[in-house]
Amino acid sequence: MDTGIRGRKALVCAASKGLGRACARALAREGVSLTICARGAAALETAAAEIRAESGVEVLTVVADLSTAEGRAAVLATCPDPDIVINNNGGPPTGDFRKFTREDWLHALDMNMLTPIELIKATIDGMVARRFGRIVNITSGAVKAPMPQFDLSNGARAGLTGFIGGLARQVAQHNVTLNNLLPGLFNTDRMANAFPTIAKSRGISTEQVIAERLQNIPAGRLGDTAEFGDACAFLCSAQAGYITGQNLLLDGGAYRGLL
Ligand code: NAP
Repeated sequence: MDTGIRGRKALVCAASKGLGRACARALAREGVSLTICARGAAALETAAAEIRAESGVEVLTVVADLSTAEGRAAVLATCPDPDIVINNNGGPPTGDFRKFTREDWLHALDMNMLTPIELIKATIDGMVARRFGRIVNITSGAVKAPMPQFDLSNGARAGLTGFIGGLARQVAQHNVTLNNLLPGLFNTDRMANAFPTIAKSRGISTEQVIAERLQNIPAGRLGDTAEFGDACAFLCSAQAGYITGQNLLLDGGAYRGLL
């Protein structure tokens, strides 16, 4: 399928690894030129070089911490008028909510709610003027089914989801869409690092932790980041112009509800 976005410009946040990088790769394959960012320069340059080599598109890199005003300004200076914005960021820490301070909450809100809102605020009017815009926010399956110990994520991402639902209806008539992608369990660095930590804290093997998690996933496997990237590219396609304000779960069937 020709997704009709060749030659468009995308800003893909937090894209040196994992789900962000998979979205960047999939968009590049569709002929979209990219600005990608992350805090660590080495992994960012490696990702950019690989994407350029496989797709031939222009890939600009910005070493930036998205949780800071300076980081967001640097990203927007390099890509002031994107047609596509993929909002992504590191996730907040897990743990008992009693241990989280007000500062912990403000940081989580900054990372996973206010930063995407700031980037949308800076770019959406240009999309409206050009009569094309696609904004995809990477949130979490926890938005549909909040998880114990993920309280910072549950709260911050629910706030972003409410904001997006309202805004999507205000710009739909201009061919600007806003949607959220909700990952279940994907095979990223974040997960590769989390499983051994959980195993150690429980005194069991990493394999046991993974086996337990898979029991709750009807697909019987972790998600492949390429599947996530492809879903993102579709939501950014010309054909997806009638899909807006939606929360699309990619979780191998783990969420048991009908809606
Ligand atoms: P990952 O593999 O750890 O990749 C995270 C990416 O974000 C890296 O490129 C990282 O690069 C960048 N990053 C982190 N903090 C940043 C910051 N402050 N400013 C700029 N870039 C930053 O993580 P992932 O698994 O792809 O997860 C992406 C998002 O999806 C997270 O919010 C996570 O909570 C959520 N999620 C993931 C899963 C899953 O199964 N993987 C499930 C549910 C939700 P640097 O460290 O160099 O900055």
